[in-house]
Amino acid sequence: MLNDFMIMTSLGSLMYLIFQTLTVKSFFKLALTSHELNSSYRLESTDDLLYKSNWPFLKVRPPHRIQSPVNIITSNATQVMLPPFQHVGYWGDDEILVNVTNNGHTVYVSLTNDEQNIPIGVTGGPLFDDLYMFDQLHLHWGEHDEGSEHKFNGQSYAMEIHLVHHKIDYGTFNEALKYYDGLCVVSYFGEISEEDDEEMTNFINDLQSLIEPGSSVIRLIGEEFFWLKKTADQIDYFAYPGSLTTEPYAESVTWIAFTIPFKISRKQLAKFRNLRSHDSGVLINKNDRELQEFNNRPIVYV
Ligand SMILES: [Zn+2]
Repeated sequence: MLNDFMIMTSLGSLMYLIFQTLTVKSFFKLALTSHELNSSYRLESTDDLLYKSNWPFLKVRPPHRIQSPVNIITSNATQVMLPPFQHVGYWGDDEILVNVTNNGHTVYVSLTNDEQNIPIGVTGGPLFDDLYMFDQLHLHWGEHDEGSEHKFNGQSYAMEIHLVHHKIDYGTFNEALKYYDGLCVVSYFGEISEEDDEEMTNFINDLQSLIEPGSSVIRLIGEEFFWLKKTADQIDYFAYPGSLTTEPYAESVTWIAFTIPFKISRKQLAKFRNLRSHDSGVLINKNDRELQEFNNRPIVYV
């Protein structure tokens, strides 16, 4: 009986010792993990939870890597109330001239030199009162009908358009890159339809003049890109913190992904595949980056 009692006590002490060791180990594991979070994500730490539950209301530096593009799992998004998201000056009365260029990687659209100070951009939504100025827009398409960089629940779209902006407070795009709230990229997604989008005709016809890398045309933004307005006027979008999908991959981006796609016919989409790149004239047909780990970061639905 006494022996049994002693054995039980010893077992109890042993269990306690194991429990203690595990606890201490877990503690160190946790400490180590939050220390390692800058390089890669391991475990949901206090920092993660704080970041996840407060974004975008509290803009703080992310506790782990936030690269883009990502697969957006729509059921993971938290619905939030935010001020209305607004496109400012894009389709106003001003006759804003843009360069539309085949830059060897994509079709790249930027303000002409005379128009650098025109106030077009975005504000509201997760940006609250801050104004983000337009830098450029460009397009992503694919060899087949799966050219979007982002995916939604594992599904690609045929096309993705990125409107890139920097926060006006930081002065320039290159300066804004250094800040976790420096940039805002708005994504519109294109879905294949049977019918041509007639509003897109000016732009699609211009692709014939952009076949060679370096070639460029100057157009009024309102005439060339009015077809984007119906997507921009939608009020449903996802927003999440991420990075540029090209060098320098700065983790400075508030991504706005509009959920209702624009329509583009297969015939119109095919025109983009005639464009040539800088690499020995190969067709531009794979200009997207591979998906990045989502790392349990915040995502909201508006
Ligand atoms: Zn892009």
